[in-house]
Amino acid sequence: MSHLSPAKCGGIVKRSKRDEMAELTFTYGTMASGKSTLALQLCWQLREGRSDVALWTFGDRSAEGMVTSRIGIEAAAEAVEPGESLERHVQTLLKRAISILVIDEAQFATVGQIDELSWIVDDHDIDVHAFGLSADFLLNVFPASARLFAIADWAHELPLTSSCWCGQKGRCNARVVNGVVAREGSQFVTGDVSEGAVHYQVLCRAHYRLGQLSAHAS
Ligand SMILES: [Zn+2]
Repeated sequence: MSHLSPAKCGGIVKRSKRDEMAELTFTYGTMASGKSTLALQLCWQLREGRSDVALWTFGDRSAEGMVTSRIGIEAAAEAVEPGESLERHVQTLLKRAISILVIDEAQFATVGQIDELSWIVDDHDIDVHAFGLSADFLLNVFPASARLFAIADWAHELPLTSSCWCGQKGRCNARVVNGVVAREGSQFVTGDVSEGAVHYQVLCRAHYRLGQLSAHAS
């Protein structure tokens, strides 16, 4: 599995579709690692001078049909419901002669939808760039992400930009419920990394294991 910088990752888009087959690419990382920002940046760069780029999201943090990033940039996106057939959305892609599809929050897709994404690549020659989390708050790989690891042409890990409070790199997306690291619960509770009754905090492995959220152990 190769590891590319965000800058290089944006450069993997092919110059000419005539030269090569379309590809399915998965870019993954922890929470607050800049996935949505990178997805938006990729879209913005690609849309300079071309109109065949589409953006989808499998659920987002704000309004329906928007991809938003924590640094404040956003773009309209087609909202796809987890589990629904992609057929209607694919027809829209074909009508618009889309050749590049960028997807945010791919971890919320179902395994069947990831398979459908691969058919978009193979049957319609559309490049698909999926961005998402690899693992949930219990450190289990999301089913959609596991499928992407299995069938994507490329998988790139974003650099670990989120740090634990101790300064170590944070690999674990801890779900914090009323100040305690959750050890059970539904995989698909949505939330943000900002403070709240239920929120997410990136921790290093050791402090995830200890459930320690700050230097002052409670
Ligand atoms: Zn730590």
